[in-house]
Amino acid sequence: MVADRVIVVGAGVIGLTCAVRLLEAGHRVDVVARDLPLETTSAVAAAFWYPYRGLPQERVATWAATSYAVFDALADTDPESGVRMVPGTEVFVAPEPDPWWGTAVPGLARTRDLPHGWADGWTFTTPVLDPAVYLAWLAARVEHLGGTITRLNLAALPAGPGLVVNCAGLGARLLGADRTVVPVRGQVVVVEQTGIDRWWLDRSGPTYVVPREHDVVVGGTDVEGEWSRTASPATAEAILERATRLVPQLRDARVLRHRVGLRPVRPAVRLERVGDVVHCYGHGGAGVTLSWGVADEVVSLAATAAVSGSP
Ligand SMILES: Cc1cc2nc3c(=O)[nH]c(=O)nc-3n(C[C@H](O)[C@H](O)[C@H](O)COP(=O)(O)OP(=O)(O)OC[C@H]3O[C@@H](n4cnc5c(N)ncnc54)[C@H](O)[C@@H]3O)c2cc1C
Repeated sequence: MVADRVIVVGAGVIGLTCAVRLLEAGHRVDVVARDLPLETTSAVAAAFWYPYRGLPQERVATWAATSYAVFDALADTDPESGVRMVPGTEVFVAPEPDPWWGTAVPGLARTRDLPHGWADGWTFTTPVLDPAVYLAWLAARVEHLGGTITRLNLAALPAGPGLVVNCAGLGARLLGADRTVVPVRGQVVVVEQTGIDRWWLDRSGPTYVVPREHDVVVGGTDVEGEWSRTASPATAEAILERATRLVPQLRDARVLRHRVGLRPVRPAVRLERVGDVVHCYGHGGAGVTLSWGVADEVVSLAATAAVSGSP
């Protein structure tokens, strides 16, 4: 037995993925959102699988592992999803213990093949997706499965009937009356693809270079409590300088555009059911990475609510 109707608030990667899984489970789903998919923070993401600034660790590792498997399968079977598996290297200036999320990634291995100035590192192959392609693919999937996506700026969560799934990201400050969700500003520079075929990450900057099919995302910044979405030219210059030290091949790459997004960071992801509302927000710098894992859990919570008929 499933709920008659589910309203999903939010059309970023979390809302759309939850909508897909809820539709697949037999629910009737309507997505409502102030920003449509390509206008969301999710559209600014790099976007590669990496559990950055998402907590708590045990739940994040499980959700991330689920998503990894789904993306891996998509890369194999559905090129239109915009997902590709790309090898890369994470580097450290000092020796680093094994990562807490290591079991989620097949084939993670230490490497000595490091750029000058870095002392430790590991390589693994991870899903990389082009968010413009991927979010459009997810939205098409929602509609293909019979769901709807409507622009609506809400002052409060809808009051049923049926279940409401709150995937409002940073908007949960208002819609969940939750001041523990804070913006963590991330600026990136998108440059032309000059034949870069590996991703690189130095979390300490953070500095990252993520090659997509037609361009390369170069990041980044991580400024807590900062609300401005205007790109700073000085910051862009500093990002490119740091990234070029890591990947000298970037030196002559033409800049295509500058993007800024506000990560919805929370001390821990909120994923719980309270009455007829399932809250699912606060995925920090890892919304893409956690999306399929949390969506499965939202479906379980929705089913529990329907079976018990409560409250
Ligand atoms: C520069 C940058 C790089 C990143 N790189 C990565 C990466 O490589 N990998 C990764 O996994 N993650 C990455 N992230 C993090 C990722 O983008 C976020 O975790 C993710 O986008 C959160 O998704 P979301 O759906 O919760 O929120 P959002 O994408 O922000 O969507 C929230 C939705 O809720 C709606 N909403 C909010 N308030 C209201 C309201 N009052 N009424 C109606 N609708 C409302 C919005 O309009 C929107 O549709 C990055 C983030 C940034 C900024």
